[in-house]
Parts: sequence; structure tokens; C-alpha cells
Amino acid sequence: DRAGDYRILHEAALRDYLAGLPDLKVRLGGDPASWAITEVGDGNLNLVFIVKGARGGIAVKQALPYVRLVGESWPLPLSRAHYEYLALSRQAQLAPGLVPAVLHHNEALALTVMELLEPHIIMRKGLVAGTQYPGFAGDITTFMARTLFSTSDLALSAAEKKEGIAAFAGNHALCKITEDLIFTDPYRIAEQNRWTAPYLDGLAASLRDDMDLHVAVSRLKLKFMASPEALLHGDLHTGSIMVTASQTRVIDPEFAFYGPMGFDVGAVLANLLMAYFASAGHEHAPGERAAFEAWVLEMVEKVWNEFARKFLELWRAQGTGDAYPVSLFAGERGAARLEAERQAYMQRLFTDTVGFAAAKTIRRIFGLAHNIDFELIEDAKKRAISEARAVRLARAMMVETAAFSAIADVTSAARKLR
Ligand code: ADP
Ligand code: MG
Ligand code: MG
Ligand code: MG
Repeated sequence: DRAGDYRILHEAALRDYLAGLPDLKVRLGGDPASWAITEVGDGNLNLVFIVKGARGGIAVKQALPYVRLVGESWPLPLSRAHYEYLALSRQAQLAPGLVPAVLHHNEALALTVMELLEPHIIMRKGLVAGTQYPGFAGDITTFMARTLFSTSDLALSAAEKKEGIAAFAGNHALCKITEDLIFTDPYRIAEQNRWTAPYLDGLAASLRDDMDLHVAVSRLKLKFMASPEALLHGDLHTGSIMVTASQTRVIDPEFAFYGPMGFDVGAVLANLLMAYFASAGHEHAPGERAAFEAWVLEMVEKVWNEFARKFLELWRAQGTGDAYPVSLFAGERGAARLEAERQAYMQRLFTDTVGFAAAKTIRRIFGLAHNIDFELIEDAKKRAISEARAVRLARAMMVETAAFSAIADVTSAARKLR
């Protein structure tokens, strides 16, 4: 893995490379010339190949030195593959079975070979089709509670925590993408912005003129930049989650860094809420997707409630980090105060979560990267109606924070807008 050895491995070069790795060669099986290699990358940044042999399959992800969605004019460091590998490895320890196993990593090539997730599909596609995933809330809340709690000052010594921050601090180019594309560009004129014109022209202009919103989103941006609470996935939307009827796997943690926990939890909630608002645009007959929509809002509540329950459970059982020294909370009186403080902590985390969910929603409607929940609504007017409802809720969640003190406030506001 010498530095300077980077080259993009397209099909033929990838075949030769994999054929030279004995473990992978055995896993795939058969003659390397017979392996089926398909590029399946549908993401914004990287190449992903699925390779299948006589015996088994693998997924191969390689970072490009630029943003795939935009092209070579927008360079992006290959080191993101290193951070993705580091995060995947850490998540596998903390939340076993909820991420694909890493089979091989080459730093110089910015390449990672993973377990092939099959027959899993990208969750967002399932949501567009109106599919319910009964195990999703349980799995994603286990993933978030464990990865966030266990990398925080509630669980770690001060030294361990700061080592963790340092290990991911170099991933700042990916953070900058979030800082610009999520927290800044949708609120100003920016070349990369787009929206469903002409229907949302007025809403786009009103966002650019809304100083309450600009203050709120800038506060969230500052929190994102200056609050290394825990190791975040950093891009936890429903396009980074692969599912079957009974399994959930989280992929694509290349945006991982130490940031505010509410950013990950808010990402999941935002994407469920967008699936909810988009649903009306996918129905062929009125009310056809009512059961799905009710389920999605149930999941919004369950994701927050189960996350909070699991996080608190971990804190009570494993809260041996340096932040709340046991010695300061002795006896019954100490235990009672500490428990009240835990509840207050979750309330603050909820407020952050609501704000980040709102920011994640607005960027998908006015910024560079849109999502298929809305994009696959062919009728632009229908799409704009769904998008405008989502933006209305998001604007309220970001600015009228006092009106959203519990998750039921979010779901009942969503229901009223539908
Ligand atoms: P990007 O960083 O470019 O968004 P992703 O890691 O999200 O790349 O992967 C892009 C696509 O490749 C995913 O949407 C999924 O369809 C497919 N994919 C990624 N990892 C796997 C895997 N381990 N097994 C099967 N398919 C995968
Ligand atoms: Mg992706
Ligand atoms: Mg998805
Ligand atoms: Mg990615």
C-alpha cells in the first residue's frame, strides 16, 4: 500500500487486483475471468462495484479524487476512504451485525472491500414503493444509541475521547461539504441550488430573506462545527441504509467525525418525514398509501422514543466516562439528581435533533443533492406540493423550537400539513 500508488480500478484492473488477494479469490471462487463485475454506485461521491464469482460475492468501494456527482472540477480528498474504513470498523465493534463486514482495505488505492449485502435494497427505494420495515426502528436505534453513547464523554475517559476526536479530525473536507451544502447554500443564492421551479420559486426566495431562519440554521451550523460529542456516521439518510424485510445494515460512513449526536438522529427522522410527505405524490388513488403513511409517522415517534430509552439504559449501566464523576453523585440524593440530569440531557438532545432534522429536510428541496422520495414524483406540481409541506414543517421545527418539546409535537404537526 505505498503512497502514490493510487489509480482508478475499473473492471479489468479490479479483476486483476482481486485475483491477487488469496482470501478474496477463495471467497469469490472459480476462475477470475468468470467473475461478473458490475458498477452499481448510485451515490454522489464514489465508485461501487459488485463482484460475483462461482462461490460468493463482494462489494468494492473506491473513492475518486473528485465528487462523482459534479466531476473533476470539484476535487475531494481520497482520505475519506480511510475515515470510512475506520468508522466501519468502529461501528462493527459497537453495533455488531448492523454494518457490512470489512474484508479488505487498501489505503493507497482508497479502496475497501465489504461483505455483499444481498438481497438488501436501499431503504429509500423501499419507502418510495410504500414498503414497511417492521425491524427498522429497533435496529437503527440500537445502532445510534450504541455508536453515539459509547464514543461520548459519558462512556469514555477524557484521554480516550480526545484520541477519538483526533483520529477523525482530518476528515474536515467532508465536514465542509455538510457545512456548505446543508447549513449555508439553501439559504442564499448558490450556483448548485435547485428546486421544483416555478412552483417553489417563492418559497426559495422567502428562505433567502428569513432572518429568523438564518439565525437558527447558523446556530445549528455552529453546533455541528464546534460540538464533538460523539463519533457520528455523518450521512445517516435512508440512502445509507440497506434493508430486507427483517434486516437493517448501515453503509457509507465516509462523513464520519466527532460532532453533535442530534445530527445523526435528526438525519433519520428527516428522511422518514420526507418519505411521509412524498408519499402523497406516489399514490395512484387517494388514500391508497394511508397505512404506509401512518406507519412512517409511527416510526418517527418510535425512532426517537426507542433511541432515548436505549441511550439512557446504556448511560445508567455504563456511564463510567469522565463527564459525570460517580463521586459527585453519591447516595440516594446523588442518584436522583443524576437521573434528573440524564432526562434534561435527553431534552437538549431532542431539541438539537429537531433542528438538525429540519436542516436536513430543507437542503434536499433547495440544495444540490435531492432525494428520490421527491424526485420520482413525475408531476412537478404534485412534487412541489409534497416538498412545500415538508419545508413548512421544517421551517417551524427550526424556528418555533418551543412548540416542539416532544416527538408527538412533530408527528401531529406533520399530520396536520398532509
Ligand atoms: P457513495 O458514498 O458514493 O454514496 P455508497 O457507499 O452509498 O456510495 O454506495 C453506493 C451504492 O452501492 C449503494 O446505494 C448501494 O446500492 C451499493 N452498495 C454499497 N455498499 C454495498 C454493499 N456492501 N453491498 C451491496 N451493495 C452496496
Ligand atoms: Mg451513499
Ligand atoms: Mg434510501
Ligand atoms: Mg457516501
